[in-house]
Amino acid sequence: MGVMTDVSGRSRSAVSVAADFAWVPHVPPGGDVVRVRHTACCGAFELASLGGQYFVLRPAEVPGEYEEIARGRYIVAVTAYVALLKQHHAEHQGRGQVRKHDEPLGHPI
Ligand SMILES: [Zn+2]
Repeated sequence: MGVMTDVSGRSRSAVSVAADFAWVPHVPPGGDVVRVRHTACCGAFELASLGGQYFVLRPAEVPGEYEEIARGRYIVAVTAYVALLKQHHAEHQGRGQVRKHDEPLGHPI
């Protein structure tokens, strides 16, 4: 996601798009398979598809359960996903943390 630019009002509107959605419990489909298209930093969110619909998943407070948001067309789900990622990265930076996948593996403590 390092190539994403933050120069226009476009990114801000993407954030507000995500804020317009509400997380709802994800009900696992019977007989069909949810396909994960992309997993976010820390595994915080996943962009998933099912039967031609796209949505964003996140782990619920209950272990093994998920919540979803922005189910519908690809562009709807991706817009929400990108906005959530930006928010997530901003939270890392706010805490002065380096994103986990940017840390060198095996680096001595
Ligand atoms: Zn993260």
